[in-house]
Amino acid sequence: MKEKLQKIREEAIRQMQEATTLDKLNDIRVAYLGKKGELTSVLKGMKDVPAEERPMVGQFVNEARTAIEEKLDEIKKDMEKKALDLRLKSETIDVTLPAKKSNLGHRHPNTIALEEVERIFVGMGYEVVEGPEVEYDYYNFEALNIPANHPAKDEQDTFYINDKIVLRTQTSSVQVHEMEKGKLPIRMLAPGRVFRADEVDATHSPSFHQIEGLVIDKNITFADLKGTLEVFAQELFGKETKVKFRPHHFPFTEPSAEMDVTCFKCGGKGCRMCKGSGWIEILGCGMVHPRVLEMRGIDTNEYQGFAFGVGLERIALLKYEIDDMRLMYENDERFLKQF
Ligand SMILES: [Zn+2]
Repeated sequence: MKEKLQKIREEAIRQMQEATTLDKLNDIRVAYLGKKGELTSVLKGMKDVPAEERPMVGQFVNEARTAIEEKLDEIKKDMEKKALDLRLKSETIDVTLPAKKSNLGHRHPNTIALEEVERIFVGMGYEVVEGPEVEYDYYNFEALNIPANHPAKDEQDTFYINDKIVLRTQTSSVQVHEMEKGKLPIRMLAPGRVFRADEVDATHSPSFHQIEGLVIDKNITFADLKGTLEVFAQELFGKETKVKFRPHHFPFTEPSAEMDVTCFKCGGKGCRMCKGSGWIEILGCGMVHPRVLEMRGIDTNEYQGFAFGVGLERIALLKYEIDDMRLMYENDERFLKQF
């Protein structure tokens, strides 16, 4: 009996050492230690063993079982370690290889110009606010003193969603939302996308950006408007920049003006950039029309305001000397990289 057990034990270990896979190893475990395995069948034959020998045989069987189990464990761990080593080796990262250069994006000239304008006005105590691009006709026109028969409301200029809703044609609509909040004074800057039914060319696009500014407070005069916009121009184009105001007309301001700055390229002598005049038109502005304030229930005896609107693309095109607005929307990396 002892010899038989010894043979089973040796045979099992020999087979295990030859095994190359975990599956094969498991088959061997079942064949020797399983319910119908060889060692189990020896135990089943115990009834034929004389009673006084049974404890001894039982001990042999246990020893054989322990020896097989230990060997099984050892070989299994060894196999797993080899598999892991192999995997680690194949997945090793060679840190000495040169890295792939990732292509980083770049801020758009519009974004750079906007951040510059925001920096200047936030520095003067303005709050940057936003309004909807899809807007009620009322906020875009009537509340800004643009009557129903005004040419700006023509379908050739404005994208209509339906009778009452448009794609805003100007960021001035944000003024109305701010005034509706009923909190005075107001000192706001509203940058955003606007839409006009324009054909695309070097200076036009159906979608572009405006920056609207509005101040409402007590004792506001045209002198405040001029002082504020002069500081803005000098911060943006240089300390030596001069400004001049030409009378103009907008429905929502009275009086209204357009502001020119001395050409920052030639300093006012005249060049290609300023078409020889020495001046460059930069924005529209004016004192908020009393009707616009009254429609929002603001007492015009106590409060006055001024407003201005800047074309963001215009600023960016001038500042970075870009001669075609279409370049701004093509997302050509070679163009964008230059700023
Ligand atoms: Zn010039």
